[in-house]
Amino acid sequence: MNEADQAHKDIAHNLGIIDKRIQQACIKAGRKREDVRLLLASKTVDVPRIEQALSLMDKPLMGENRVQELEQKGPELKEPRPEVHFIGHLQSNKIKHVLRWADCIQSVDRLSLAKKLQNRLEFEDKHIDVLVQVNTSYEDSKFGVKPENAIALVKKISAFDRIHIKGLMTIGLFSDDKDKVRACFKRLVTIQQDIVSQQIPHVEMNELSMGMSGDLEIAIEEGATIIRVGTAIFGERQYPDSYYWNESAKEN
Ligand SMILES: *Cc1c(COP(=O)(O)O)cnc(C)c1O
Repeated sequence: MNEADQAHKDIAHNLGIIDKRIQQACIKAGRKREDVRLLLASKTVDVPRIEQALSLMDKPLMGENRVQELEQKGPELKEPRPEVHFIGHLQSNKIKHVLRWADCIQSVDRLSLAKKLQNRLEFEDKHIDVLVQVNTSYEDSKFGVKPENAIALVKKISAFDRIHIKGLMTIGLFSDDKDKVRACFKRLVTIQQDIVSQQIPHVEMNELSMGMSGDLEIAIEEGATIIRVGTAIFGERQYPDSYYWNESAKEN
């Protein structure tokens, strides 16, 4: 078997395992399988391998972390294009590049970014779906609005008519302590419920993007509607995630 065939087989196999894990978690949580969507977290993965995985999905959905990678891969994606989400830290000077390819930005976490996004959307006469990213683990290394400031931010962003808030996103704590990981997801759900109870005009709160390769079961049990999975499908990445998430990511 050549390398490409082997890679395809691995991806199909890995997707099968992920699907079983999702199903099991849904059963345990008493949820419907179709209420949880899988997003391929495809950073560092080349387009042929991403396409292999997408071709095996009912509703193809991928997420990129870096503007540069998104710009490289965007034109290579075959029609019909998969749904593409941006899931990494977004600098405001890169907004226009992201708008070219992304159907949803999951990482809106500050008012200044939303303002610039609205301006650009007006200029392009476009609209965009977003999730508001919350730093539920309170780690300095992670982006996202602080939980206690999340509702105020959502209210302010809701005034921008071209930005459609669909829900919330978070990256859980990396820890073997499942209770601590679960607490992050619970925090996101609490914020979601608070926002729903405030009935803010133009704000939808149906999506909760949380859970990755290592913690997707916990996230599904707590109500995730989108889980973002990379390693468990494509294998280990060359760079540690801090390369994408920590302060140094601000330089890029
Ligand atoms: C890389 C990444 C993921 C996927 O992480 P894995 O552990 O590889 O499944 C999910 N969300 C974000 C924001 C990521 O950057």
